[in-house]
Order: sequence, then structure tokens, then C-alpha cells
Amino acid sequence: MFYIIIFLILTVSWAVFLYDILSLRLMQRHAESADLLKEFNKLKEEKEALDAENSRLNRVFAETLALYELTMDVCKSLDEEQVFAIFRDNLKKHIEVRDCQYIKNSSGLINYKDYTVLPLSTAENQIAGYLVVDGIPDKDKEKFEILSQQFLIGFRRALFYQKVQGLAITDSLTQVYCRRYFLERFAEELKRSRRNKLHLCFLMIDLDNFKQFNDHYGHLVGDAILRQVSKTISDMVRQIDFIGRYGGEELVIVLAETDKEQASFAAERIRQAIEESVIKAYDEELKVTVSIGVSTFPDNAENMQDLIEKADQALYLAKGTGRNKVIFCPS
Ligand code: GH3
Ligand code: MG
Ligand code: MG
Repeated sequence: MFYIIIFLILTVSWAVFLYDILSLRLMQRHAESADLLKEFNKLKEEKEALDAENSRLNRVFAETLALYELTMDVCKSLDEEQVFAIFRDNLKKHIEVRDCQYIKNSSGLINYKDYTVLPLSTAENQIAGYLVVDGIPDKDKEKFEILSQQFLIGFRRALFYQKVQGLAITDSLTQVYCRRYFLERFAEELKRSRRNKLHLCFLMIDLDNFKQFNDHYGHLVGDAILRQVSKTISDMVRQIDFIGRYGGEELVIVLAETDKEQASFAAERIRQAIEESVIKAYDEELKVTVSIGVSTFPDNAENMQDLIEKADQALYLAKGTGRNKVIFCPS
């Protein structure tokens, strides 16, 4: 009996002992799984944050890429009208606007009263045109602002190119074509005249006794005379004609689609206009005259070099026979 009791006590003790151990294990497991759950939740939150950051970065990347592509596209052309056309096509991919136009002069703005107007300034802060837009959705206003800045980059680039082109072909003192570009245009015009069987006249204009003006009044006054004479002539010729500075005080003109009779009238008008105009240079009021030699295509010569020579000979004759006159090369 005693042994049975001892055995039972031992068995119960073992059972209690085992129960304790198992309970402890279970509690440990429980605690561990709670920790794991916490860890899991934490990792889940971190993953969600990373996903959100990832999609934000993707969005930023897509927007940056779109801006980069837009900048690339608008920089493909050096004509501001084309730059605008490219911008407008690109804009459609990003924002839906009712209308978007490029206006060159402020006078054109009158037709776009309810539009948002963005003045387009040059690098020198001068207004060179306007971007007018209608119906930008509120949510896209900021985006439009950014996109229009990319257009401005292409627009300024086109204007800058045109300015450089202008400087490269223009004589800085007289604002007429420089000799090199004039000769290029002359060659082209001759080709066109030949192809279309048109007449053309070439005028060589030289200021009379110009050296005396320089010697008497100084070079600055001489420059002002040259500037004014060039302007007077430029104001008198048609859009299809063109003027160049051939040498120091020699100007040349191509009168396109013009025969000898018409050129005689035009050259005489130029000579008279200069003779009659009073040139204001600094404190001086001066009068100058010019001599003009003229050659005609195809009557006097077929090629550019010969036409120049013939006009030069006629000019030489005008100088030798009293100046302030127009002389045509004899046919
Ligand atoms: P002519 O009637 O025979 O043409 O006499 P001219 O004095 O006009 O001719 P000449 O060839 O003896 O002198 C031309 C002068 O033009 C000499 C030169 O100093 C002047 N000249 C040439 N280029 C310029 C310029 O850019 N500015 C100024 N101020 N003078 C110039
Ligand atoms: Mg002269
Ligand atoms: Mg000369």
C-alpha cells in the first residue's frame, strides 16, 4: 500500500512536472509566435512603404522621362512655328486642353480673351510671342506650367539660331547683306531667272567723293552717312530685291524680275532720293550723292562674274563723266 502511495505520489509529481514543462514550452511558443507576428506585421508595413515609394519613384521617373523626351522633341526644329507644333502634339499626350495657340504679336491676343496667356520671353527678357491656352484642368495646371517651360527652351533655341544666322549674313554697320551672303543669293537668283526665263538687273552703287567726307568730318560721321544711305536704299526696294555691302562704300543690289527699262526707273529714283535727302550725323547736316552702274541679265552677260564686271565698268564711266548719275552697260 505504502509503495502504491509512493508510486502514485511520484506519478502525480511527474505528471505535474511534465505539465509545467509543457505549459512553459507552450507559453514560450506563444510568446515566440506573438513576436513573430509583430515582426511579420512590421515587415509587412515596411514592404507597403517600399511599394509606395517604388510607385512614387516610377511616377517621377515617367514624368522626368516625358519631360526629357519633350525637350528633345522641341529641340529638333529651329523654326519657332514648328517648335510650337511639336509642343502642341506632345501636350496632348499629357494634358487635355481645349485649345493652345502660339501668337507672335500682342495685337493677336484680342482674339483670345478668355485664354490663359503666357508671355514668351527671350534670354534678354524681351517678349517674343505668347502661348495662349484654353481649358487647362485645375489638376493639371502645375503640370502645364512645367511642360510650357520645356517649350520655352525650344522656342528660345530657335530664336537664338535665327539671331546668329542674321548676324552671320548681315553687315553690322549697314544692316544689309554681307558680301559673301549677297553673292550666294545672287547666284541663286540667277539660276531662278535662267530657269524661269526672267530678266534681272544688277546695280553697283558707290558714294561720290566719300573720302573727302571722312577726311573732313571724321570716320564716325562717315559711318553714319553709310548707315543712312543704306537705309534710304533699303526702304526703296521691293521685298524680292536684295542689297549687299560689296566693299567699303560700295553697295550692290539685285533687282529680281526686272528688265532694263524698269531698272532705269528704279536706279534713277534711288539716285535722286539720296541726292535729295539730308543726312543728320552727330551735329552735322550733310548731303551726299552716289554714282550707279547697272548691268542686265541676260542682255549684258549670262553669269554672275561678268554681270559684276559690266556694272563695275558702267560705274567707272559714271565716275569719269561727272558722278551723281546712273549709267547702264551698253548691250
Ligand atoms: P569716288 O567718288 O571716286 O568714289 O571717290 P571716293 O572718295 O568715294 O573713293 P575712294 O575709293 O577714294 O575712297 C573711298 C573711301 O571710303 C575711303 C575709305 O576711307 C572710305 N571707307 C570705306 N569703308 C568705310 C567705312 O566702313 N566707314 C567709313 N567711315 N569710311 C569708309
Ligand atoms: Mg566712292
Ligand atoms: Mg569705292
